Amino acid sequence: MKSADNTVHIIGAGWSGLACAVALAEAGIPVVVLEAAPQAGGRARTVRYKKSLSSLALDNGQHIMLGAYHNTLQLFRRLGINEQDILIRQTLALTLYSTHHPVIRLKTPALPAPLHLIYALLNFDNIIWSDRFKVIRMLIKLRFQKFRLQSDISVYELLHHHLQPDTIIQALWEPLCLATMNTPVKQASAQVFLRVLEQSFNHRAQDSDLLFFKTDLSSAFCEPAIAYIQQKGGQVLFSCRVRKIEAISASRFGSRFIIHTKSAQFESSQLVLATPAYITAQLQQQNFNLIPPGSSLKFSYEPICTIYLQYPEQLQLPQIMSGFFNSFSQWAIDHSLNQQPGLIAVVISSSGKHLQLSDQQLANTIHNELKLIINNLPHYLDYQVVIDKRATFNCHVNINAQRPDYITSRRHLYLAGDYTRTGYPATLEGAVTSGLNAAHYIIDQH
Ligand SMILES: Cc1cc2nc3c(=O)[nH]c(=O)nc-3n(C[C@H](O)[C@H](O)[C@H](O)COP(=O)(O)OP(=O)(O)OC[C@H]3O[C@@H](n4cnc5c(N)ncnc54)[C@H](O)[C@@H]3O)c2cc1C
Repeated sequence: MKSADNTVHIIGAGWSGLACAVALAEAGIPVVVLEAAPQAGGRARTVRYKKSLSSLALDNGQHIMLGAYHNTLQLFRRLGINEQDILIRQTLALTLYSTHHPVIRLKTPALPAPLHLIYALLNFDNIIWSDRFKVIRMLIKLRFQKFRLQSDISVYELLHHHLQPDTIIQALWEPLCLATMNTPVKQASAQVFLRVLEQSFNHRAQDSDLLFFKTDLSSAFCEPAIAYIQQKGGQVLFSCRVRKIEAISASRFGSRFIIHTKSAQFESSQLVLATPAYITAQLQQQNFNLIPPGSSLKFSYEPICTIYLQYPEQLQLPQIMSGFFNSFSQWAIDHSLNQQPGLIAVVISSSGKHLQLSDQQLANTIHNELKLIINNLPHYLDYQVVIDKRATFNCHVNINAQRPDYITSRRHLYLAGDYTRTGYPATLEGAVTSGLNAAHYIIDQH
């Protein structure tokens, strides 16, 4: 049995677990991270696929950040990561294609928030004037209400309440809601959506910037985070799946825990479970109750499908990111600036439509839709389909009420993970914030 008296054990080296470990290590608190997989990153990691595109380091799914991801960007800075080395920052510009509608363009100018958005909406290409005013009126009203609701409703109900026409719902709100919450407008929580809008559009103009990774996710964050933790004396152990956690004594000084893996046991006096909610539920089921009444670890999940299509190297899309509406594809991201010339990643969130098609059919369908963006598109050379069936929790109405806090019913046992009560949807920023919340609480206790 390995034991260390004031060591904090963190189960899971996803972005929440790593963020927690970095903050603790920075404060001089010894940490050991136990990760089931042979690599860190969890749902935001890099994979080398064997069958196709095998020479490329691809992420397990296309990830995009927003300028409003303050905690994540600050964590990068604390790790000594230079934003320009890993991210391409672009002011918000959306170009949306559809077979049934002329191309829609929204581009924010260099003005302070929220004037940048109002200007962009006044110049909303191919949207009639009365519809542009309806969007602006809604945003002004929401700002007046401080982006708060007395009780939660669906995003769809919110949009109807603010008299948003169908074209605007389909061409603007639905893509934004899927991109930020991975939940369809009819189910999605308006409360969470308003938080996203408030954080992205109501403070500094840069908060609505789009940030695209220039490098793969593992080299952007996971590797520097692990190097930092190790440099501060911490450990990150891979292929170390935790099978069981035993609470061995509950005195007024709190519990001690025995962590069981296949080949070793660890004794711990402070434990952070940074596993996905369904794994945390399995671990707690074994012998203790963590979650106070009212909150729950039961979530339903939404898939995300990323289709990587490799075209001849000279192919470039007119912009880094292009959107689609009333289509199968939702976003297409050009990886040329990512040193992967000719590689296009297409994202299909939530809908589940893709699950009915074979990978080959999916690649062909997406290829045909890309013809909306590029005339004379050559045939793709190779493709890789990556589907994560439990990519994010379904961010439904009243979701915030059920999300557990990072402090549990058991002393010295904490939760981290994008599902905890941060107010964010399931995102990198939510994951990082949750890990930092748990770490700061532990540091304060010390
Ligand atoms: C395809 C896809 C696209 C996405 N796109 C975006 C995007 O564009 N922007 C954005 O902000 N967010 C995006 N997200 C969401 C984002 O990736 C997640 O919110 C975030 O990575 C969650 O981090 P986490 O640490 O909470 O959980 P996880 O990443 O799930 O980490 C949990 C870790 O625990 C480990 N683990 C599990 N069981 C055990 C065990 N028994 N013992 C030890 N370790 C264990 C897992 O291996 C994993 O490493 C996307 C997610 C996916 C899947």
